[in-house]
Amino acid sequence: MAVEPQLGTEIQYVKGVGPKNAMLLSKLGVQTAEDLLWYLPFRYEDRSEIPPIMHLRPGRHNTALGKLTEVRTRPLRGGKVLLEATLSDRTGELVIQWFNQPWLGRQLEPLRGTEIVAYGLVREGYRSRLEMAATEWEAIEDGDTEEFARIVPVYPLTEGVSQRVVRRAARAVAEGLALQVSDPLPKWVRQRERLPELGPSLRQLHLPDSEEQRILARQRLAFEEFLYLQIALQLRRREVKQEVGISFPISRIGELEQPVTTLFGQDQETPAASFWQEVLQMLPFQPTRAQERVVHEVWADMERPAPMNRLVQGDVGSGKTAVAACAMLAAVRCGYQAALMAPTEILAEQHAFNIKRLFEPKGIGVVLLAGKLGAKEKRRATTQAANGEAQVCVGTHALIQEGIQFANLGLAVIDEQHRFGVLQRMALRNKGRTPDVLVMTATPIPRTVTMTMYGDLDLSVIDELPPGRKPIKTHWKRPGERAQTYEVVRRLVAEGRQAYFVCPMIVENEKMQAQAAQDLHLRLSQQVFPDLRVGLIHGQLKTVEKEQVMEDFRAHKLDILVATVVIEVGVDVPNASIMVIEDANRFGLAQLHQLRGRVGRGSTQSYCVLIAEAKSEESRRRLEILVETSDGFRIAEEDLKIRGPGDIMGTQQHGSLDLRIADLIEDAHLLERARQAAIDLLERDPELNDPDNREVLKRVRQRRSDEALITVS
Ligand code: ADP
Ligand code: MG
Repeated sequence: MAVEPQLGTEIQYVKGVGPKNAMLLSKLGVQTAEDLLWYLPFRYEDRSEIPPIMHLRPGRHNTALGKLTEVRTRPLRGGKVLLEATLSDRTGELVIQWFNQPWLGRQLEPLRGTEIVAYGLVREGYRSRLEMAATEWEAIEDGDTEEFARIVPVYPLTEGVSQRVVRRAARAVAEGLALQVSDPLPKWVRQRERLPELGPSLRQLHLPDSEEQRILARQRLAFEEFLYLQIALQLRRREVKQEVGISFPISRIGELEQPVTTLFGQDQETPAASFWQEVLQMLPFQPTRAQERVVHEVWADMERPAPMNRLVQGDVGSGKTAVAACAMLAAVRCGYQAALMAPTEILAEQHAFNIKRLFEPKGIGVVLLAGKLGAKEKRRATTQAANGEAQVCVGTHALIQEGIQFANLGLAVIDEQHRFGVLQRMALRNKGRTPDVLVMTATPIPRTVTMTMYGDLDLSVIDELPPGRKPIKTHWKRPGERAQTYEVVRRLVAEGRQAYFVCPMIVENEKMQAQAAQDLHLRLSQQVFPDLRVGLIHGQLKTVEKEQVMEDFRAHKLDILVATVVIEVGVDVPNASIMVIEDANRFGLAQLHQLRGRVGRGSTQSYCVLIAEAKSEESRRRLEILVETSDGFRIAEEDLKIRGPGDIMGTQQHGSLDLRIADLIEDAHLLERARQAAIDLLERDPELNDPDNREVLKRVRQRRSDEALITVS
């Protein structure tokens, strides 16, 4: 082809690619030159330095260059083969080893006497000879090397496609075409943020001149990615604010009663002050300042005509349920129904129990809607939700099933929202006509994730625990130290406390999980604590059975409760002051933190014992973090580092956080900048009509379908 290649040129016509490689590249989804430009390396190997062999350092990845002086194969046990090649330069000798790749010998043999270059882990072998476990090598032709003596990109591959093919093609495209790529970002943004242009950045990512330039190029792309996401979220937020929802007349509730003073001070009467008085009388405790602030934020939002879309974040035990109760009471007082959806039956039952206790004395009808209710009960609850007799409906996913209708749902509260998929949240919202939505999460989501995932939500944070809480003391014990742990449990029970035993996590299925719990229960009740009252709860029990067990535990008819992770979220028995978690290694960090939050809810000292072997450095680090801190935010960040955001947010939301380049932890500073840039950009050009912003708009639109999924509305 004599034609000068363009970005849209089919990849096979790019210099040095050809039909055969084009076919391989198509396996990676690469059809055109431009596709390949965007097919980015996922890491780099700095092979720019080639030290003399004598200077190679065991324990490091190094590049070595020398004359191939010897090639030999040795049979090993089990029919395997070790291939060794000796490389030498003026300073010394190096033996490169490959296991079980006999065909390599046939490639190396003819190169004997010529120079080759290899990259791999250097180690000290028998009689301190220098060895290298080689991953890659290349013959030097005309004194030139393609894959060495530079920072080499490493691309994600699929079967049958080699690094070499991709590198060579990517190099051709990056050298020849990258600079033709036009930059979608308005100039002022680029200048203000000191970002390099897109074309040169892409070139740097494939052919880095230096580590600094590569990093800068990557930041440029990450910033851009965040920017589109943030613009999409800002637009969405604006749309929601323009929608017309319910304006709850909260300040007029109890208007006739005496005006009262609150924590806000005497002269600064808040609109909902008299209603706040009612709340104070209803709650069995004095709300914390944080709770009071958040309740007022929620109420103020409910008063506004735009539908509320608010995330309440608060660490385990910070008292989110009370905040939800205040919001629901407001909705009911204004003549609407409220629904509270929880992720597990146990939690829904517990909420129903607590809310009934608060609301029924006021004559407010509360029903429970859960999957495993008897047919008759379910029918009654369904009818009451539909005719409005049930002013508050508490439930699980059962709430969003097709047959369920509400007379006039005004407020939807979703507890432990990270447990729900986006669609489930939307489904609950759609049970009413633009009801207000309040989502609550105990998982402390790192701020960067919040900004990315929930940039369109308003955020309220309960940043204070109820007074008198003593921090939970967490200990890590090896399996060999169980007896000692049992003694502590026994002592606490003798003092009138209660204990949880959480059995090992088994992900395979719920049946096996239940079996593990039964085994643990048997061992504890028969052998270890035959004299104590040991109960058992797991996901395979019927609702009524679970309810009964929880009720017995709450009423202190049980000393010890053996449980699966069903108790992970929300369960609240303040007298329980020790939790023993078996095989703690199998749980995620955030999950352990959640579990641990089941104790330390009263005013006595509580304990959490993690029983685990430290199998790896990583698991040791995870356990130590838990022992060290009870700061949920720190734990969440560590967890994010270890597992990545997809896992934290739950797989259903993973797809929506489609970040190809940016990293939520590493690039947190960029995210903040991108958010500000998004706000400024929209301020200058609210509809993105300016020709300068046309490309930005186009790319934001491409994101819109994803973005629609990450809002609660
Ligand atoms: P979470 O935020 O984890 O959902 P809960 O709402 O379950 O927390 O509350 C945890 C415990 O703290 C409950 O026993 C609740 O009654 C109690 N609680 C909540 N707020 C206060 C408060 N202001 N003072 C004392 N106890 C409180
Ligand atoms: Mg809760």
